[in-house]
Amino acid sequence: MNDRRRGHHGVPAARLRGIAPTIFTRMSALAARTGAVNLGQGFPDTDGPPSVIARAVAALQGGSNQYAPGPGQPALRRAIARHQQRHYGLELDPETQVVVTTGCTEAIAAAVLGLVDPGDEVVVLEPYYDSYVAMLQMAGAVRRPVTLRAPDFRLDPAELRAAVTPRTRFLLVNSPHNPTGTVLTLAERTAIADLAREHDLVVITDEVYEHLTFDGTPHIPLATLPGMAERTLTLSSAGKSYSFTGWKIGWATGPAHLVGAVLAAKQWLTFTSGAPLQPAVAHALEHEPDFPGALARDLQRRRDLLCAGLAGAGLPTRIPAGTYFALTDITHLGWPDGESFCLELPARAGVVAIPAQSFYDDREAGRQLVRWAFCKDDEVLEEGVRRLAGADLTYHAEATR
Ligand code: GLN
Repeated sequence: MNDRRRGHHGVPAARLRGIAPTIFTRMSALAARTGAVNLGQGFPDTDGPPSVIARAVAALQGGSNQYAPGPGQPALRRAIARHQQRHYGLELDPETQVVVTTGCTEAIAAAVLGLVDPGDEVVVLEPYYDSYVAMLQMAGAVRRPVTLRAPDFRLDPAELRAAVTPRTRFLLVNSPHNPTGTVLTLAERTAIADLAREHDLVVITDEVYEHLTFDGTPHIPLATLPGMAERTLTLSSAGKSYSFTGWKIGWATGPAHLVGAVLAAKQWLTFTSGAPLQPAVAHALEHEPDFPGALARDLQRRRDLLCAGLAGAGLPTRIPAGTYFALTDITHLGWPDGESFCLELPARAGVVAIPAQSFYDDREAGRQLVRWAFCKDDEVLEEGVRRLAGADLTYHAEATR
């Protein structure tokens, strides 16, 4: 008798089988349960601009409480198109080339479900954001990871090229890159674009950390490279740029046929996205254009605070050029892997971090990497670092559970 006929024993469906619960939820639950300082999941302690919250409140009270249009409210679509124009010189028709989604995570889901056929090969940078893997499996795609290797986490153009086969149809890219903090260089971007044009690939690019780069490192969207606008679907959101990760307002932009495919899937996932939050995000994009840049400057300071503190606690990081995250290689502490270290860390130090190993197919490449978030308030970072500096972080066999 197969699983299905045994009723509830056949769950979850094959398309979800083997996919562990998201590590972010697991580790935030661990932080809540143990009262540990949460340097794990990437969400800020401080909310975004008050004027944007006020706009959401006004929308809630002003009757913006029924379904938004499927592709998103026109004012938000126009604001997103203008944002892409203002920052990157990309010209988009808000009617056909912009779709609003329930966070970038839904944009990823709808892009994969709307574009990728079973058996299609998708080249993806690893470490990868965990939802990529879940969605590719749900779509029946074959993933071809290309590893950004420690200690520099750079993209090797030769490895990228070697991952492309006659069955490859998509490159799924993320820059600024979570969890490494890598921001693609001109040479890396060029390698991606050359390959995409040569093999007629569609590029799906997750750029949610587009504004969060440091030390003058530029973020250049792949869609702006020659010949790329017509083959690139760009995904982003208000969550990271405006410190509203819980609002779940994201978007996909690009050529009408790719955006149309996202909408084709999105309409069956969430139908439409949060109506009162859309005018507020439009307000953010139009009237708080300087917020993301100011956030990035402050994050750079907090990056330095955390990375210096971690180095002082014997946990040196590579200094990230973007995102909210820094990685430490913990090999010298003797743990079997980063996960065992992170599961013990609340007891040892009262701190939660994210093991990066589940973001790799090449488990060896990520086995000893631990991710810390620096989007937290100063006193949270200081307390986390103080606890880590005062703790014994070396492995003792008897202590493992
Ligand atoms: N993107 C955030 C992170 O990497 C959190 C996303 C999530 O929890 N799904 O920490």
